[in-house]
Amino acid sequence: MLAGFLTPSGKGLPSAKPERAAAGHADGARRRVAFGRCGDHGCRAAGCARLLRVPLGRGGATDATGMRGETFTGPARRSAKAPKGLPGAAVQRSIEKANIMTPGWQRFALGDARITTILDGTRHADGPHPTFGKDRSQEEMAALMRANFLPETRFVNGFTPTLIELANELVLFDTGFGESGTANGYGKLVERMAAAGTAPEAVTLVVLTHLHPDHILGLMTGGQPTFPNARYATGAAEFEWWTSQEARTGARAEMAKTVESLVVPLRDRMTLLRDGDGVAPGITALDAPGHTPGHMVFEVESAGQRLMLTADTANHFVASLQKPDWVVGFDMDPQKAIETRKRVFDRIAAERIPFIGYHMPFPAIGYAEKLPDGGYRFVPVSYQLAIAGEKG
Ligand SMILES: [Zn+2]
Repeated sequence: MLAGFLTPSGKGLPSAKPERAAAGHADGARRRVAFGRCGDHGCRAAGCARLLRVPLGRGGATDATGMRGETFTGPARRSAKAPKGLPGAAVQRSIEKANIMTPGWQRFALGDARITTILDGTRHADGPHPTFGKDRSQEEMAALMRANFLPETRFVNGFTPTLIELANELVLFDTGFGESGTANGYGKLVERMAAAGTAPEAVTLVVLTHLHPDHILGLMTGGQPTFPNARYATGAAEFEWWTSQEARTGARAEMAKTVESLVVPLRDRMTLLRDGDGVAPGITALDAPGHTPGHMVFEVESAGQRLMLTADTANHFVASLQKPDWVVGFDMDPQKAIETRKRVFDRIAAERIPFIGYHMPFPAIGYAEKLPDGGYRFVPVSYQLAIAGEKG
């Protein structure tokens, strides 16, 4: 979303507190797990590199959330825990189906696709005003927060990439902070993907909704692509703008430099998208400019079910959605962002389809109800997707 929020140093936000420190956990967890080839994810593609996390020794690794890895481990452990008379596979399926809140990732089905949202990190910061409601008073924002049972001068911002598993593609939308964020407790995407059973090598396509730092810093690790077998896609207008003379010499030169070092080297494996382009089977890119010049949203359809990935069209589940026409300081073209917000969420509300927003509260999935005053109420998903297709 915005520069101050999106740099791992938290520069410009001296009061920002990172998610609970986890660097030690991350290292410890890595030492304590081994990876084995996946035996149950249903992919029969030759050379599939999908890996499953298998805890070593007793107890499993503890995540930064304090929850223990053994609660959602691989098939062996699940089988070992199966009650007498109940086959392990059934237990495994029931765990998947239960759609339980897990440490930093959540998985659900959309038709034949499997979708996992993964929390790269959260930031506690001052606000939402004046970043949100820049053209309004703190009092107006405070009243809105109070009405929604939220603090008036502090808020939490989440960063949630999404993984979509199709028959022959594993598509990752946005990459979080990567190694540059780990000192501050961000950059957990790869670690949490492993916990969810997916190695970075398995990703076949990385889609960048736009090229702000919190969406692209995870592209490289140690100067090498984090997802070594992936192709890439991003908006043509987005790529063209960030690599333009205007971007490289203007107020956003620092961000343009990040694009230059992380995105441009991947150009020969990158598809530049136009409005309406297909990204993968059932996934369509749509122009949604304003937050950035070439920001895109994505419609996902599988077996008759649909959802939208709205990326940074709305960046606070109350301030941006209930008041879509309030100016957001870091929307690069605020008026265009307002038009886009209304257009995208009018459609989501009218069609009653779920959406995933990169900065929505984890697991970052919900519905939008149109309010009489023109705003939208965020309705978090509960069990709707878990039972879609079941007959009542
Ligand atoms: Zn963002």
